[in-house]
Amino acid sequence: MSKIQLEKFQTPNRRLMGAGPSNIYPEVSEALSRHEIGHLDPLFVKMMDEVKSMLRYMFQTKNEFAIAVSAPGSAGMEACFVNLVEPGDKVIVCVNGLFGGRMVENVERVGGTAVVIQDEWGTPVSIDKLEVALEENSDTKIVAFVHAETSTGVRSDAETIAKIAKEHDCLVIADTVTSLAGIPVMTDEWGLDGVYSGSQKCLSSVAGLSPLTFSDKAIEKITNRKSKIQSWFLDQTLVLDYWTGEGKRSYHHTAPINSVYALHESLRLVSNEGLENSWKRHKDAHIRLKKGLEDLNFKFVVEEEYRLPQMNSIYVPDNIDELAVRMELLNDFNLEIGAGLGKLSGKIWRIGLMGYNAREDSVDYCLDALKSVLNK
Ligand SMILES: *Cc1c(COP(=O)(O)O)cnc(C)c1O
Repeated sequence: MSKIQLEKFQTPNRRLMGAGPSNIYPEVSEALSRHEIGHLDPLFVKMMDEVKSMLRYMFQTKNEFAIAVSAPGSAGMEACFVNLVEPGDKVIVCVNGLFGGRMVENVERVGGTAVVIQDEWGTPVSIDKLEVALEENSDTKIVAFVHAETSTGVRSDAETIAKIAKEHDCLVIADTVTSLAGIPVMTDEWGLDGVYSGSQKCLSSVAGLSPLTFSDKAIEKITNRKSKIQSWFLDQTLVLDYWTGEGKRSYHHTAPINSVYALHESLRLVSNEGLENSWKRHKDAHIRLKKGLEDLNFKFVVEEEYRLPQMNSIYVPDNIDELAVRMELLNDFNLEIGAGLGKLSGKIWRIGLMGYNAREDSVDYCLDALKSVLNK
């Protein structure tokens, strides 16, 4: 075979203001290039402990189990279902966008029975429908929902969903991939049992890690399972010894060392800033963007009350070629914004103000770039 000789792969410096990944913090970039150490090195183990404490803060929980799965947010989702759902378990899944649909897929693949509550894309999970479904399905074991539906930019009322689920003795699985650090996620106060997130959205770290926490009740369900967890890699009873085995940490898999440095650094930055300040920063950026977009006559997809500050969905006017505009933003302004997914494909844009980009400078850059392209 002839050998392949290529130039180093160079990337432009894009502003990532779509549905994730977001730009990483400069400090996270520095953390990525630190010297690698072994993943069972006592120093690495100490760092994992710090990651765990900071994750408890991010999730607002006292749960002993708070780790980062060595894979993207989708693996955090899968870890929740594969561990918490036993074959035959009935799971109510609230679907109001793309990611809720994936939860249904997960339930079915692990042999559970999914009872699906559908709500229109762009609207929050209907509490009334959930109550009816719980009345009609008194044998339900779990209620699952997406707190921040990235496909539409809608926030559902996690607190009320969890409260009703608890009244029916159900465990609650919540997707907080886009919400964590952008809006409040109060795991203990709301009573969430399986909660997962992602490293590359409002935490502004590199993609490929999924923060995950289980309540004691969730751990109890997992340890009392009658059937074996089908996935070896995502079986959290095995990972438990790796992340938590006091002084006797055993090998499970090789942690993505530098990615964990990066997550540690982004968690440290958000912890130092304080969650309340992080939430406020996302909100302030959203208010600034909203004003600019309304001046340009854009209409939001989601009603004001349910809008996510970190994910702004707007309708693309009929006379505009949505793909051409996005490509011009990308090529001429190094700016990425998100397209619509599924049934909203071609109809909307999704502007993300996540983590590092939840600041005035990014908002103004985006608005100015949009104006330039639209004025042509
Ligand atoms: C991005 C996202 C995921 C999936 O995360 P990946 O890191 O892309 O696997 C899951 N749920 C929601 C709500 C998301 O926004």
